Formats: sequence, structure tokens, C-alpha cells
Amino acid sequence: MTQLFDFDSINLSPFVDGKRISLSGADVIPTYDAASGSVLCNVPVSDENIVNDAVASAKRALKGPWAKVIPAERSRMLMRVAQLIRKDAARLATIESLDSGKPLREAKGDIETSARYFEYYAGIADKLQGDTIPLGPDFVSFTMHEPIGVTAHIIPWNFPLVTTARGLAPALAAGCTAVVKPAEQTPLTALVLADILTEAGVPPGVVNIICGPGNKTGALLCEHPDVAHVTFTGSVATGKTVMRAAASHVASVTMELGGKSPVVVLADANMDDALNGTLKAAFMNAGQVCSAGSRLVIEKSCADAFLDKLAARVGAFTLGRGIDDPDIGPVISEQQVRKVASIVAESGAQTLAGGKLGKPSGLNGWFYEPTVLLAKDARSVAVQEEIFGPVLTVQIADDFDHACALAEDTPYGLVGGIYTRDVSKALKFSRHLSAGQIFINQYFAGGVETPFGGTKNSGFGREKGLEGLKAYYAVKTVTARL
Ligand code: ADP
Repeated sequence: MTQLFDFDSINLSPFVDGKRISLSGADVIPTYDAASGSVLCNVPVSDENIVNDAVASAKRALKGPWAKVIPAERSRMLMRVAQLIRKDAARLATIESLDSGKPLREAKGDIETSARYFEYYAGIADKLQGDTIPLGPDFVSFTMHEPIGVTAHIIPWNFPLVTTARGLAPALAAGCTAVVKPAEQTPLTALVLADILTEAGVPPGVVNIICGPGNKTGALLCEHPDVAHVTFTGSVATGKTVMRAAASHVASVTMELGGKSPVVVLADANMDDALNGTLKAAFMNAGQVCSAGSRLVIEKSCADAFLDKLAARVGAFTLGRGIDDPDIGPVISEQQVRKVASIVAESGAQTLAGGKLGKPSGLNGWFYEPTVLLAKDARSVAVQEEIFGPVLTVQIADDFDHACALAEDTPYGLVGGIYTRDVSKALKFSRHLSAGQIFINQYFAGGVETPFGGTKNSGFGREKGLEGLKAYYAVKTVTARL
């Protein structure tokens, strides 16, 4: 495995104050090749001293070198980061695919999206401006946008570089500094990003990258009193812990906590689009996507024909090592594949495709067959719980109103998709569903420009687009009596 890439070319040391901190004798966390179960790298753990140094360096940079960089130059720096990511895209995609197990073409897409975040927010860094407020002839009143301060970024393992870029680019555009803690399973592209930021001329301390277990390094970072905002993407349980830590020192938070998002297919839909859309919604990145369309809610009158085709397509998916670009790669870890298997076993649902651990030839890693379950009960774990694996749960709806009711009936509210030619139904659905975003006739429509976030257990706050900047600046109002 290791012959596929020279992992010694990646500097695994924490990046603090513009330098690598060499940690001899530190604890290490192995990162694994999920396809084979073998170790790729041993990444040193950043202890409390390193966390404190990282936050202190971000705090110094905030009022020091970073405050002196004029917005137009900040913008140029972010653009250079985008360019350097694109220049190194092939290497970054290889690393991302090996580290996360995701198919190579998806990893390539992730790297381009990461570059695009820096490019997009580069465009706004010199355009963040306040308002003047009319109070009559005796006053002048205006607002200023000020960076919120030192921001912490807690990154999940399913979209390592994309999620890093999604938070970091707007934070830097708004003039904040940052400490990034990638997931212990997938820290490698963030560590490479450190070199890119240096090459792009981002001053020391503006971005610090530290690795380690969530409940140690991550917790210390979120608890740190000098952290003003925590951007978190991960599970609901960990999100609650992070919120408590942030609350202890009154830091603001952005919480992106996953979902159980429905793809509604009505009988009048373009069935080819609906089928292709459902497959992508459910099985991209082996279903390990917060915004995955992991529930198909289909109108009864078109269900039989649709489900036959769906099961045939899913049954034909190739399973293999991400770097070989199969349809479906491995699940991130042994723990995760066990969780997927136990939810499927517990669900009481009828299996229309898959339903077992996957066994691609010659590979002993953590595979699960792409699976379609027909739920018998709306309270089933397969309907209510985020599985985070290649499992699509189907629910049959009597009609449009029933489909809306089923779509809404989970504790989550991240995304809703609908396939229909009836504009009125599509818009009624958009209004009805509690969710941060609605996709009509193309699941995952939109991009870095379109705001993203959740309601209910899916969290709160918005990332992406211009909305994504708002977490990173505070509005200060200045009012003068003349
Ligand atoms: P999963 O269980 O799927 O790994 P988590 O939500 O636990 O997802 O992890 C998402 C991110 O949160 C990872 O970077 C992880 O290291 C981090 N993390 C886990 N626990 C904590 C914690 N107590 N405080 C801060 N970060 C944490």
C-alpha cells in the first residue's frame, strides 16, 4: 500500500506560528488505509502546551501581522492559496483518497472545491463593509465589520480538505486567525495545506494546524478562553460537548451536525433524473456525507418500477480501494462499518440490495455493500438514525401530502430533495420541510456560493456563500453626536 505514495513527503508535525514543531517522543495516532486496514502514517498528538501555543500564536497574529495586511492583499493571498491548491491538486487528491478511502474522482472534486472556497472568499475580503444609519442632522452613525477573533475549526473525516477550506477561507477573508484540528482519521491534507499557506505568504500564526484526539486536543482547543468562535462539523453528541465547552467562555459556534435527508420522488418526475439523483445522493463517498439523501420517499404509484431499477443499479456497483476509483470505496473505520452493520441488522427492514459486509477481492478493509432497505415502520432506526454508510432507506408514500409528512418526520433538518415536474408541489415542499436547503430536480445542486446548514438536530449557523462570512465578523456600531 505504502508504495502507492511516499508518505514521508508529508510533514506530520503540528504547524504553529508558521513553523513545524518537532515532537520527539510524543504520542502518535495512526491513520489507516481503510481498504486494507494497514497503517499509512503515525501522526504526532498535539498536547496541551501545543494547543496553548497555537491559540497564543493566533491571538498575536490577529492584532499583529494579520491586522496590518490590508484587505486587498488578504484577498490576493487567498487567491494564491487557491492557485497553489490547484497546482498541487493531483498529489492532494491522491493523499485524500488514500487517507479517507474515497474514490479518486471524488477526491479530485474535493480538491477543486477546496480551491474554489479560497477563490470565492478571496473575492469578498476587500468588500466587507458596513452601513451608515440615518439618525437626522445631529448624528453620524455607521457600522464596522470587525473580525470575531481567534477561530477554532474542528474538522470531520468525511470531507477533510473541503471542510477545512469551507471554514478557513471565510474566516481569513473576514480578518480572523485560526487553529485547525483535523479529524484523527484524516489529518494529512490539512498538514499539506500548512505548506501551501506558507508558500502563499500567509503570515506566521494566522493559521495553526494541530492534530490529536477529539476528546483531548479538540476539547482543549474548544475550551480555550481565547477562542472566540468554534466551527464544528461532526456528530450530534460531539457537537453538544463542543457547545458546552464554547459556552464555558462565551464563544459563538457554528454547528453542522449531519442529517437524515429525504429524496422525495413523485410519480410525475423525470424518472431517469430521479434515479441518477437518488443514487448520487445516497452513495457518494459511500454514504458518508452529512447532506446525503439517505432516505428515498417515493410515491406509491411509481414505486415498483423505480425500486426494481434502483436495486439493479445498486447491485451492479463496484466496490474497491478508493485510489482505483470504484463506484463505492470502504467505510472510514472498523468501528464505522460495525455501526452500519448493526443498524441494518436492527432495522427490521426488507433488504432490496446489499445488506452485508463487502468483500472486494484481495482487500481486507472496512467495506459494506451498497444497500437498499425498504422500511416497514417510520420509527425504524433505518429511518430515524443517521447511518453514515452506503445504506439507502426507502419509504413508500400514498401521495404528495403523505410524502411531505414522511419527509419531515425525523429529528434532523439538513437537506430535502424533490423530483417532480409540478412547480407548485416542489415549492410547497420547499416551504413545508424544516431544512437548511432544498434541492429541486437535482440533489446536491449548488456549490460554494449557496448557503448550507441545518435546523433541528442538524445544527445551526450557515456556512458557504456570503452567509458563511457572518460567523466570522462582529458588527460594531459607532454613533456620534455632532
Ligand atoms: P465521529 O464520531 O464520526 O468521529 P465526531 O463528531 O466525534 O465524529 O468527530 C468530529 C470531529 O470532532 C473530529 O475532528 C474529532 O476529533 C472532533 N472531536 C471529537 N470529540 C471532541 C471534543 N470533545 N471536543 C472537540 N472536538 C472533538
